[in-house]
Amino acid sequence: MSLSSRFSCLDGHDPDALSVEQARRFIRSQLRPLSMCERVALRSALGRVLARDLIAPCNVPAAANSAMDGYALRHADLEATGATSLRVVGTAMAGRACADELAAGECVRIMTGAVPPAGCDTVVMQEVVRVEGERVVIPEGQLRGQNIRLAGEDLAVGRPALRAGRLIGPAELGLMASLGFAELSVFRRLRVAFLSTGDELCSIGTPLADGEVYDSNRYTLFGMLSRIGCELLDLGVVRDDPVLLAETFRQAAAAADVVISSGGVSVGEADFVKPLMAELGEVLFWKIAMKPGRPLAFGRIAAGGGHGGDGGGDGGDGGAWLFGLPGNPVAVMVTFYQFVREALHLLMGADPPPVVPLLPAVCACKLRKVPGRSEFQRGILSQTDGGWRVRPAAAQGSGILRSMAEANCFIVLGHERGPVAAGDVVEVQLFDGLV
Ligand code: AMP
Ligand code: MG
Repeated sequence: MSLSSRFSCLDGHDPDALSVEQARRFIRSQLRPLSMCERVALRSALGRVLARDLIAPCNVPAAANSAMDGYALRHADLEATGATSLRVVGTAMAGRACADELAAGECVRIMTGAVPPAGCDTVVMQEVVRVEGERVVIPEGQLRGQNIRLAGEDLAVGRPALRAGRLIGPAELGLMASLGFAELSVFRRLRVAFLSTGDELCSIGTPLADGEVYDSNRYTLFGMLSRIGCELLDLGVVRDDPVLLAETFRQAAAAADVVISSGGVSVGEADFVKPLMAELGEVLFWKIAMKPGRPLAFGRIAAGGGHGGDGGGDGGDGGAWLFGLPGNPVAVMVTFYQFVREALHLLMGADPPPVVPLLPAVCACKLRKVPGRSEFQRGILSQTDGGWRVRPAAAQGSGILRSMAEANCFIVLGHERGPVAAGDVVEVQLFDGLV
């Protein structure tokens, strides 16, 4: 079934008034993870997605050991009531085997991480004992098993330590190192081609002519895509010329899993791009009920004559998924964060894709908002005595990139929400974590 028929099967989905949630859900429903994987050294796995379940080849910790500096003893040697005096017959150090066998009434001094002598089932922390020459006095009330970390209590041998689909961060690196893994299987990087379209665009390094603007979208896209860990293919600025555009998209689809363009999908320009896209593949043009970022194109372009790669972009046609973002610089970032980011993580095999939560904050001033569309205002979140407060960045125009640089969060005003009064609670989404 074609993309457009899959889309039109969805009840109540009007391409001219799609909610953010409907668009997100449809995109999500169309994407399947890449299947290709590769083996990489542990450190190179940072930011990648684990391709196979990782089964623990050993227990972590490998043996029971002390969680404290103190004294290791047999709980059965302690008096039922009152303190017990035990003779200290040795010391157990971390990383050194302890040969001492304890006789009744004996204990050893033990360091954190050291393996207790056979039969010792309890560690008493050094702060609570009284040392009397070669003996220590243990107060009453010690619990059997206390302060001993059990073999395998962190990771048990034979059990999955991490599941396929896990996005690998610092904790996962450490966890895999604790199991002794020097290499692992991750999904291959997503190849993303990106370009800017528009006759008015000038690339940096060239003086601006009358009526031109510097192309900034390729730099925000570069930043966001790099943070996600994609392999990048920068296709530069392409003029509003159907032949050039078609050629660029064809090339991009042959070389990449995903193609991201900015500009050219707004009402006037879509009329010019739509027939072009119909030739290249199947692309849906939406007007999403959101601000900023209303126009969005989503679809698939075929490789068309190019060498099809490994078909890793799903669909098996060697083509690529296309995201046609609006041209306005803020709209590019908003639509990237709200639609493309999750899509890329899904294609990368992240399961579940990482979400950046919406958190409540008190809004410092009133905000205009009409029900019937989602808004992503740029906000500045700060801590006050009473908790977190957010105020909107000064200028909210979708061409004012300064608002993104000044802000540290989106103020997310949901589809149904009306105006906000000063002191109302709103939801914010921090840029940190969005990448
Ligand atoms: P468009 O969506 O192509 O109609 O563009 C909307 C607005 O965004 C216009 O003012 C464009 O000049 C501007 N714009 C488009 N692409 C870029 C870009 N790559 N960098 C900076 N501004 C852009
Ligand atoms: Mg344009």
